[in-house]
Amino acid sequence: MDVRYLLFGVSDAHSVIFPALESGPFLEGFMSTTTHAIAVSSPGAPLGPTTIERRDLRPDDVLIDVAYAGICHSDIHQAKEDWGSAIFPMVPGHEIAGVVAAVGADVTRYQVGDRVGVGCMVDSCGECEYCEAGTEQFCTKGAVLTYNGVGYDGQNTYGGYSRQVVVKDAFACRIPEGIELDVAAPLLCAGITTYSPLRQWGAGPGKKVAVVGLGGLGHMAVKLAVAMGAEVTVLSQSLKKQEDGLRLGAKDYFATGDASTFDLLKRRFDLILNTVSAELPVDSYLGMLRVGGAMVNVGAPAKSLSYNAFSLIIGNTMLAGSSIGGIAETQEMLNFCAEHGLGAEIETISADQVNAAYERIENSDVRYRFVIDAKTIGA
Ligand code: NAP
Ligand code: ZN
Repeated sequence: MDVRYLLFGVSDAHSVIFPALESGPFLEGFMSTTTHAIAVSSPGAPLGPTTIERRDLRPDDVLIDVAYAGICHSDIHQAKEDWGSAIFPMVPGHEIAGVVAAVGADVTRYQVGDRVGVGCMVDSCGECEYCEAGTEQFCTKGAVLTYNGVGYDGQNTYGGYSRQVVVKDAFACRIPEGIELDVAAPLLCAGITTYSPLRQWGAGPGKKVAVVGLGGLGHMAVKLAVAMGAEVTVLSQSLKKQEDGLRLGAKDYFATGDASTFDLLKRRFDLILNTVSAELPVDSYLGMLRVGGAMVNVGAPAKSLSYNAFSLIIGNTMLAGSSIGGIAETQEMLNFCAEHGLGAEIETISADQVNAAYERIENSDVRYRFVIDAKTIGA
């Protein structure tokens, strides 16, 4: 199986093109409700308004009125088919914050009116070793992705750029009081994707952590690592966002566009968290690790990254990856954010600004996450 399927639900097997979203309900034979959404019809096409069908509640489902949906760079990768064959039409969005509007007959953990979030997954087998360990993203049967995925019922999934979403209750997380829904939405992907490796690799007091790329993931990584007690350095292409980086709590800020940075910071960091959406000269970054240090990639560029074996041999360093985080860890991250007063830095946009936002993200011109105000979708 294509490893990208396990991580992101993309596979050459899923190249079925569905009729235009406007042409009628997808879920023939299923009871469903029509809701407004923003979709992309083919790879790289502009996004536009449409309607989709959401299934009627099963006993363990919740219906969520979406309040805000964050725009993750992964949405752009998938809408452009950067990672291989994807399912179109596509309704992106896996940073969802909203309010429970109805619950299925067996749901006990949520009530109407509860504030909840949904991230990158909406189902998993619940039985394999990885689900049992709370790492549903590695589910042996294949976790069902929030969009650009196929549910165990055979139906395609559609994401958060919509007015309403229906998910299994176990895949919704509670958004603690004290975090507003708009700044909470990006936590459901950008937050957990950076929280998980920072925890796994021991970011904390006495540790020097470098965050590469100050975008959606990167700015959350800085906030989280600072809150965990680590000494944080931002490595950005230029010094344009230096003031912001320091305000977020970083101690240092360097431009990777300046070659001397790599000499200056030789053997400096215990952990380098790479959040960049494009390819990087990995060997140059590995040279900045202390002996035994680790560089963890969460950035998922279209093209391969490469490195020289000696970059790891000299210094016993490690090159690793990290995929989002499990549901329990996502709740832990939300609680951590509430405790430390953390949320994303956002720019709120309306539905008709999504294409412009995509363009700005691709130009590294985002401070630091766009969130779509869901009430503008179909308004
Ligand atoms: P983003 O907001 O666009 O941030 C990416 C940042 O990378 C940019 O702001 C920029 O920061 C830097 N950058 C962009 N192009 C660059 C280039 N050519 N060279 C050097 N630096 C460059 O994106 P995001 O939403 O944070 O997502 C980042 C990546 O993580 C994406 O590839 C996304 O698909 C991936 N992702 C992975 C997971 C996972 O589970 N592993 C989960 C979510 C997202 P500066 O301007 O500061 O240099
Ligand atoms: Zn994401």
